[in-house]
This record gives sequence, C-alpha cells and structure tokens, in this order.
Amino acid sequence: MEEREPVLSGVSGGDSQSAQKPLVSIVCPCYNEEAMLPLYFDTMQTVVFSNLTEYDFELLLINDGSKDRTLPILRELAQKDTRVKYISFSRNFGKEAAMYAGLKHAKGEFVCVMDCDLQDPPEMIATMLERLSADECDCVATRRVTRKGEPRIRSAFARAFYRIINRISDTEFVDGARDFRMMRRCVVDAVLELPEYHRFSKGIFMWVGFDTVWLEYENIERAAGETKWSFWKLMRYAIEGIVSFSTAPLQLATAVGSVISVISLLYMIVRVIIAMIWGNPVAGYPSLLAIMLTLGGFVLLALGIIGEYVARTYMQVKQRPIYIQKETNIKK
Ligand code: UDP
Ligand code: MG
Repeated sequence: MEEREPVLSGVSGGDSQSAQKPLVSIVCPCYNEEAMLPLYFDTMQTVVFSNLTEYDFELLLINDGSKDRTLPILRELAQKDTRVKYISFSRNFGKEAAMYAGLKHAKGEFVCVMDCDLQDPPEMIATMLERLSADECDCVATRRVTRKGEPRIRSAFARAFYRIINRISDTEFVDGARDFRMMRRCVVDAVLELPEYHRFSKGIFMWVGFDTVWLEYENIERAAGETKWSFWKLMRYAIEGIVSFSTAPLQLATAVGSVISVISLLYMIVRVIIAMIWGNPVAGYPSLLAIMLTLGGFVLLALGIIGEYVARTYMQVKQRPIYIQKETNIKK
C-alpha cells in the first residue's frame, strides 16, 4: 500500500507502473552471429516485445567469444534499446557456459532460454507465458518432432544417443528436446545451484525436476549463418551427456572385466588339465596372440572410460570459473 504513496510514484512514475508487470528475461547465447542478430532482434521486437505488453522484458545476449562483428552489434543494440543487456566472454567457452552466464544474470520472474538463429520460434513465447501465468506448471519446454533439413547421419546418431542414455541414466532425456524453454524463478535458482564445470543443460533441466509441460514443433532451418556444431563436437557433446549423467560405462567396464576374468580362469584350468594329461607341446601361438590383443584392447578401453570420469573430477576439483566475463553493460 505504502508503495503507492504520491511522493514515491512522483519520483519514478514510469518505474512504479512497470514494476507491477512481471519481468521476463530472455537469455540468448551468441557465437559468430553477426548475420543473425539484427534479424533476431527485429523479430523479437515485432513478435514479442510489442505484442506482449502485459510483461516487461529484458534480453540477455551472451557473446561467447565471437570472432566476427557480434560484439559491436550487441553494443549498438544495447544503445538502441535499454531492454538489451549483454555479457561478452574473454574467449569461446561454449553454449552451456553462455546459458549459465545468462541464467545467472537474469532478474526476471520468468526466464526463457533460446537460440538467436530463429530455429526457436519466438511466436511460442506467448504460449509459454500463458501456460506459466495460468499456474499450470513451473516450466514450459519444447521438443522438435521432426529433424527435417538435418543430415541423415546426424539424426541417426542423435536417436541412438537418446536410446542409450535413457537406458543407462536415471534422468529422463526427451528425444528432440531443445534448450528452448521458459522457467519460473524457482527452477532457474535450482539450475544455478548445480556448480558443475561440465554442464550438460539438457540433463540438468531434467535432473532438477519440477512440473514441465512440453510443446512440440516442427524443425525450422537456420535463417542465416551456419551451425556451429561439427560432427565431432556433437560426439563430444553426447559423451559429455552420458558421462555427466550416468556411471553405467564404469559398471560396464567392471562387468565385462569380470566376465573375461571368469572365462580366462576356466580356460587356464582347462589348459593345465590338458597339459597334465597330454603333456605340453609348444603350439597355439595364434590363439595366444588373439587372447592377448583382446585383453589389451579391453584394458585400454576400460582405462579410457575411467579416464573420462577422472578428467571430469580433475576439472571440477580445480574449480575454474565456468566463464570469464570481459565486458558487459549490466550494472551491479
Ligand atoms: N553457440 C554459442 N557458443 C558456441 C556454439 C553455439 O553460444 O560455442 C550458440 C549459437 O550462437 C546459437 C546457439 O548456441 O545461438 C545454437 O547454435 P547452433 O544454431 O549453431 O546449433 P544448432 O541449432 O545447429 O544445434
Ligand atoms: Mg541453430
């Protein structure tokens, strides 16, 4: 009641009016997006900002160490529109780090994460806000139901990845899930509480729980610029997901190791008995070689699997920051 006193509203009339509108933060990682940014901003302006007037917006654009004109464009946009906040990293830290930085600085009651290549349709933001305002859920997430326009091999690997990870991890992974989602503050706070250095957001979002509504849409191809994901980058990303959310590969190594040990022991007993009864003629070089190679291969594989986990533990123990900020227009 006191906030509405004439003296207060006289000082910051506009602010006290808009303070009643819920603030929506939109977090958007940008890496070499000079071709996309102006188009993205104009689309957001027409589709979101000027249509959904019952909300206040802030647009958090994170420059993930771009090597093109992304940063100057962000500075220009911030000058043109006070809703634009930007954070610029000292180098490329990856999309996960950029999302984390955005979530950390978002002040909104609702926070939306989206790509700036318009593959995440801004039209859906209205629906997301509707669902959240109606108190239906804590989080509105999206998934693509088609992978049209994507190389076939990439789709096949993606499908295999979801099959494997859902089998071996307790966290549920939804096939085709995008990072495009709108969350309530409580969900954002929960996500930020996970201090992992290796962040796999698709898993983190599912791991924190909360009521999630899924919206489906058809794949949309990038409007300009090109995808930053090479096949190997995606492979690393998939391994990241598996290692971050499951220890099954370690158990697999133990299981296969145990089976091989038992078979080896039985085989040894058989060989000893044979040698005792029929003597020990020198033969069997090929079988010896085959067994040695198989065992050697398996030992190396198991070491590699352990290495993946040790490496992550090592990186986490070093407690390096998830990103380093070089420039921003966000005031503390
Ligand atoms: N991105 C980023 N850092 C990176 C790679 C990508 O911030 O190292 C951003 C990129 O600018 C875009 C989003 O992450 O806004 C998704 O990237 P992209 O469109 O290349 O991925 P795809 O849609 O092909 O999965
Ligand atoms: Mg994209």
